[in-house]
Amino acid sequence: VSARARVALPEGKRFAFTILDDTDDSTLENVRPVYDALRELGLRTTKTVWPVACPEGSRLFFAADTLERAEYLAFVHELVDDGGFELAFHGATMESSPRERTEQALDFLRREFGFVPRLHANHGFNRENLYWGPDRFRTPPLRWLLARSGLQGRSRFEGDRRGSPYFWGDLCQRHFDYVRNFTFATLDVLSANPHMPYRLASTPWVQNWFSTTDAPDAAAFKRRVTPAALDALEERGGVCIVSTHLGKGFARDGRLDPEIREILRRIARRDVWLAPASEILDHLREAGAARQLSGGALLRLELRYLASELRARAAD
Ligand SMILES: [Zn+2]
Repeated sequence: VSARARVALPEGKRFAFTILDDTDDSTLENVRPVYDALRELGLRTTKTVWPVACPEGSRLFFAADTLERAEYLAFVHELVDDGGFELAFHGATMESSPRERTEQALDFLRREFGFVPRLHANHGFNRENLYWGPDRFRTPPLRWLLARSGLQGRSRFEGDRRGSPYFWGDLCQRHFDYVRNFTFATLDVLSANPHMPYRLASTPWVQNWFSTTDAPDAAAFKRRVTPAALDALEERGGVCIVSTHLGKGFARDGRLDPEIREILRRIARRDVWLAPASEILDHLREAGAARQLSGGALLRLELRYLASELRARAAD
């Protein structure tokens, strides 16, 4: 059920498409071929980064580059300074950061790029994530149930809790226009979340939330971004922001996966508006979104997310 009429898009384009690239596992070597192709095809997307290194080490995320690697920093500069790509935040680094390290990371970006990014995506189990774990759910009984079920994990997240060493809610509110929350299987994100970007009275440190399509790696991207799904997206005049990790299997040995290249070509050939995530969200805001969500609309969104998570788990 589409709860919103087709949104008029710039230049009369039929639908909008972009990628929000979480930087887990990304290195200069494994993402450069992907970004070369995106650039060549005019797909201006959003790249998250980890500004500072993680000297304490990381069991799951050690393989990724941070901006402390000079060659990788130069590459991100190329994308952002004149490539039309958006720079976004994925936390200070791959593991939990107390407030001081988050501040350092934001200062680093301001010095290095001349601005602080506008979009943030919580990462993994970082304790400074805001409104994460069961706290993603803002309808109290649902949050209570989720906390008891363990479905959202049992880690504690404290980025939104004043007094915690991990608190940075005030910085998030000051700098970031958009923070990602729920992700869905459908390419047509507006069908899952017709009111995005949206605000919530119960999450004052986040200015606007948004949703994305979930495709965590190259295999999932291939399964989701099919010609049929693109046809449906185009027919509905939809908006698609795919959350993925371009460092996970999109390129091997310095070469872009040929199937991925074909999918990207197919997208670019369509009558599509290609813009980074924040530009698309700005457009939706100008078109009337970014309202405070009612309790009923919030509950429907949370239940839709829960249902899609349970379906995904059942399919695994
Ligand atoms: Zn991540």
